[in-house]
Amino acid sequence: MTRTRIWHPFTQHGLGEPIPNIVRTGGAYLWTDRGERLIDAISSWWVTTHGHAHPRIAAAIAEAAATTDQIIFAGYTHPQAEAVADGLAALFPPDLAHVFFSDSGSTAVEVALKMVLGFWAARGEARHRILVLEGSYHGDTIGAMSIGARGVFNAPYAPLLFDVGTVPFPGNDDALDALEAACRERPAALIVEPLVLGAGGMRMYAPERLAAMAAICARHGVLFIADEVMTGWGRTGTLTACEQAGVVSDIMCLSKGLTGGSLPLAVTLASEAIYDAHYSPDRARMFFHSSSYTANPIACAAAAANLAIWREEPVLERIASVAAMQGDWIDRAARWPGVVNARGLGTIAAFEVEDARPGYLSTLGPSIKAACAAAGVLLRPLGNTVYVMPPYCVTADDLAQVYGAIEAAITA
Ligand SMILES: *Cc1c(COP(=O)(O)O)cnc(C)c1O
Repeated sequence: MTRTRIWHPFTQHGLGEPIPNIVRTGGAYLWTDRGERLIDAISSWWVTTHGHAHPRIAAAIAEAAATTDQIIFAGYTHPQAEAVADGLAALFPPDLAHVFFSDSGSTAVEVALKMVLGFWAARGEARHRILVLEGSYHGDTIGAMSIGARGVFNAPYAPLLFDVGTVPFPGNDDALDALEAACRERPAALIVEPLVLGAGGMRMYAPERLAAMAAICARHGVLFIADEVMTGWGRTGTLTACEQAGVVSDIMCLSKGLTGGSLPLAVTLASEAIYDAHYSPDRARMFFHSSSYTANPIACAAAAANLAIWREEPVLERIASVAAMQGDWIDRAARWPGVVNARGLGTIAAFEVEDARPGYLSTLGPSIKAACAAAGVLLRPLGNTVYVMPPYCVTADDLAQVYGAIEAAITA
C-alpha cells in the first residue's frame, strides 16, 4: 500500500488503490511518469473543453504571470478581468449584465445564494427558502452541500446543512405541478442544473421542462438560478444548456470550462434587478463577498483566451462532430449486455450497467475504472453510471479506444 502525505479528494486511501503520477498533459491526453498515455475521457472531471495545455491559453497565462500576477479586486480592476467581462457580455444574454468573480463552481453557487438573500433583504421581504431539484449537485462547501442531494457523501455534515425545499426531478409533468405548489409558499429562489444533473448520475431532462420551470418561477416572482458550472461552455451542444430551452435565468453560475479548464475561476452572472438591489449610497447594502484571489489576473487571462477561442474558432462545429461520434457509440453501447438507459446530450454520453448494488458505492464503477485505466483510458463512473465526456479535440480513434475499453471491462 502506498502511503502518501497527500490527502486526495473523494479518495479512500485505505483501499490502497494506485494513484498514477501524471507528469504531462496535452490535447485529450495525460502521460504518467512511467510513460503511459491515458485518454482523458472525462475531461479531468468536466473542466477541460478545447484540450489540455491549449497553446493560446498557455501563452495568455505566461504573459499575465509575467506582467500582472495578482491584484486586490476590491476597489481595483485590471485589463484581464475587463476582457472577461466584455467577452462574456458579447456571448451571453444582455439580461445577465453583471459579473461577479470567484474561484470555483461551489463559490459561484454560494455567491448566487448570497445575492438572492441580499435581493430579498433589500426589498424588505423575509424570503430565504431555496428550492432545489431532487438528486442535484452544486458543490461541496456547506452552503452548496445544503442545496444538493443528501447521501453517504454528506451524511456526517447533515447537522450543519440548512433546510431546503426539494422538488421532484423534472422527468414528467407532475414534477411541474409540485414546483408550482412549492412556489406558492413564496420561496426565495429555485436553483437548477439545466438539462443534465451531473454528479447525480447524468440524469437528463427535456428543454421544454426547463422552460416550464423557469416560466413557473417567473409567474410567482421566484428567482431562477441556472447552475451551468458543468453544462456551460458547450458541454450540452450549445454554449449553455439554458439556450436550448430559450431560458434566461436571473442568475447564472459558470466555472469549470470558463478558463478552458486550465485554472480555477468562476463567475456568477446577475440580472439588473439583483445588482440594483445592492446598488445604493449605503455601505451597509454592498454585496459582502470576497475571496483573496477574486478575479486573479492570470486566471482571468486564461478565461479571456478561452473567450477569444469561442469568438474566433469553430468551437460549436467541433462540439457537433464530437456529439455525432458520441451518438454513434451510444447506439452501439445500448446493445451491450447489461447496459440500460443509454443516453446522450451534446458531448455527454451515459448509461447504466446493471448491478445488484447500484448507487454511488457500487463496486462496478471502481472495477470498470481500473480496467479502463489499464487499457489507457481515464474514466470515473458515478456508481454504476458510466459516462464519457471528452475534451472537444478528441478523435474518432480516441473514442474507439475509450469505448473498446469500456466494452471489454463490462463484458469481463
Ligand atoms: C462541479 C460542479 C459544481 C462545483 O464546482 P467546483 O468547482 O468543483 O466547486 C457546482 N455545480 C455543478 C453543477 C457542478 O457540476
